[in-house]
Amino acid sequence: MKRFVLFLLCGLMVASCTKPPVIDTTPASLSVSSGTLSFTTDGASSQTLSVTASTAWTATVANGGSWCSVDPYHGTGNATVTVSAATNKTAQARTTTITFNAAQCNPVTVTVNQVAGKEEDKIETTTVALSAAPREWDKKKRADITYQVNVYSFADSDGDGWGDLKGVAQKLDYFESLGVSALWLSPVHPSSSYHGYDVSDYSAINPKLGTEADFKDLVSQAKAKGIGIYMDFVLNHTGLQHEWFKAASADPASKYRGYYVTSETGESTTGGMGDWYSSTTGNIGYHGRLHFKLDTSVGSQPKLTVTQATEAAQNGNTDTSVKWFIYDNNAIRMYKTGDNLYEITLNIDNNWGILVKDDATQWDDHKWGAKAGEQLVEFGKAKTLVKGGAANDIIFGGSSMKYYASFDRSMPDLYYGPADKASESAAFKDLAVAADKWIQMGVAGLRLDAVIWIYQNNANANVSFLKQWYDRCNTTWKANGGTGDFYMVGEAWTDSAEQMAPYYKGLPSNFNFYWWYTLKDRIGKGQGNDFAKTALYFRNLFQAQRDGFIDAIKLSNHDEDRAAEDLGRSFEKERLAAAVLLTSPGKPYIYQGEELGYWGKKTNGDEYVRAPIRWERNGKLASGALGGKVDANMLSADRSVEAQAADKNSLLSAYRSFAQLRNNYAALASGTMAEYSTKSNALAVWTLTGSGEKLLVVHNFSSAKAAASFGTENITRPVLVSGSAELKTTTLNGNVTDRTLSLGAWSSVVFDLSE
Ligand code: MG
Repeated sequence: MKRFVLFLLCGLMVASCTKPPVIDTTPASLSVSSGTLSFTTDGASSQTLSVTASTAWTATVANGGSWCSVDPYHGTGNATVTVSAATNKTAQARTTTITFNAAQCNPVTVTVNQVAGKEEDKIETTTVALSAAPREWDKKKRADITYQVNVYSFADSDGDGWGDLKGVAQKLDYFESLGVSALWLSPVHPSSSYHGYDVSDYSAINPKLGTEADFKDLVSQAKAKGIGIYMDFVLNHTGLQHEWFKAASADPASKYRGYYVTSETGESTTGGMGDWYSSTTGNIGYHGRLHFKLDTSVGSQPKLTVTQATEAAQNGNTDTSVKWFIYDNNAIRMYKTGDNLYEITLNIDNNWGILVKDDATQWDDHKWGAKAGEQLVEFGKAKTLVKGGAANDIIFGGSSMKYYASFDRSMPDLYYGPADKASESAAFKDLAVAADKWIQMGVAGLRLDAVIWIYQNNANANVSFLKQWYDRCNTTWKANGGTGDFYMVGEAWTDSAEQMAPYYKGLPSNFNFYWWYTLKDRIGKGQGNDFAKTALYFRNLFQAQRDGFIDAIKLSNHDEDRAAEDLGRSFEKERLAAAVLLTSPGKPYIYQGEELGYWGKKTNGDEYVRAPIRWERNGKLASGALGGKVDANMLSADRSVEAQAADKNSLLSAYRSFAQLRNNYAALASGTMAEYSTKSNALAVWTLTGSGEKLLVVHNFSSAKAAASFGTENITRPVLVSGSAELKTTTLNGNVTDRTLSLGAWSSVVFDLSE
């Protein structure tokens, strides 16, 4: 402590003027605190006395700031004085006078003033863990959530192992618990496959799934709970068993040939992703005597000429040097009748046709037959043969047709003629009549399969077609007393959102695959800061095409690897993806099993992404349709609906609470999205405003805790907390200066900012 009271100071200075100098080597200071002055000197060499005030003090030096020079014989010790002061915490100004007296020197008086003080600023911080306090839900449905059902594997009402329509109807309470207002059913029409996308009758119900009465019951029971039924309608192709295709196949003169993309010879290119296939029907064998002449002068392209014979039938040649055979269930050796020329007359009696072989017992590349689409024999006309896998049976009757299929041979593509006149085509008209039936029965929407392939990825043609189709169905809907416009969503699965956007010119709603691609990419990177911007970019793309567009957002579906698989089977990431889905603008789709954390990869078989629901811990599964391709580890008792419904921390419970919130707050369901910028890379933040509400949505996409300042934004009313969240509030003299939100890894919060 280097403090001395004032009289000690004066005494010291007097001594320095009248006696040999006293050098005090302690640091000098003059301080004023609550009226107390202290001074020491270190004997510095300056000859000037100056007084400096600091902080709230002011200082004046009565004699102008210079002090007298002391007698050089006595040495000297001049001082520099600095006045410093503690803050005046009183409400009164203060004055202090310092007078320096020394023999032979004029006194120096220093007056020091300090202005009135105030209460010192009071800065406080509080940190609290957030918990949600949403308002009470009035039970109105606002969320516009659709649940995608694989009818064949959802719920089995009759114990035959297949999911069925009654099974769906029995689970309406389950959909209610998820806040759902519509169901998209996998195709319910008769079909040869379990999945139903190769339809054989658009006007009927697949008996494996139930009856038309069952369907009607489902529509009306669901409607009573405010749940609409969307029917999956496959316009790109039918199944091979459709009567149209059978008729087209059987008879070149059939009007149904015009319903398909057909050709007598096949085409080399279509611009699409599909291929040409052959179809043969009717009695295609032969029962009678035929003469065969084979010309092998071009070895890679032997030519066979068949004629109806009147001469006697021959036995097979026994000359084993001849290597050419007619095969009609037996290989019969031909006779060499000239250079590179072989002939034989045979009685043929079979129902499938014939082949040519160059080895009696070997097949593979020793088999020769007709090119696809050129199987039918024209008597007397040479037919060029091909070998191996390209060789088709040479046939004598029935019908042979080449047809185009975008997907595979079991799904022949339909043909609607020039796109701008598609609605005038017979296929369009017949399908529209079928759709009318279901719309009149109360179906609330259609989901259109594979719409980009209807005109082989020609967007303009597809859009033109879809607009005509939509207008036709919407007319039926309105004529049937439907409210508003009919709902229709397209699977316009293109490479990018930019390519998909034009489909909004044809349809009011389209699946937004690109939204999900973005979400999983950003969760993978732990980066949320551009998510809202990207979502808005998509919405602006669609808005440019259609007012009132309905953005059908989704995670995965029945044709993709499961969302949980893409997210590394992480519960927290699945919960985050669900939270983002159900707090985003648009029309969310929940895919069967997604709410239970089902995983599955398509490379193991499509069935693995279409798994049955395990309802009870120990109940039976509706797995009959899936041919045993079921992941028993995934369908554990603990992942059952029964177990998850009882666990408030389960994924199912999270889905239910998110869905309820979306139904509770209109802004969440139908508000306008705006970006909200913070300095965090990890956080995805946006606001949703509408219906007199404003909500702030915050998600942490990263695996680490993430925090951001929201300034003085009133983030004090959390209505959803998923995971963990803390709010640190800073106040200055009782006024909030900052609110900083911290979210745990993959956590989410929604605040009500409404006034
Ligand atoms: Mg069943």
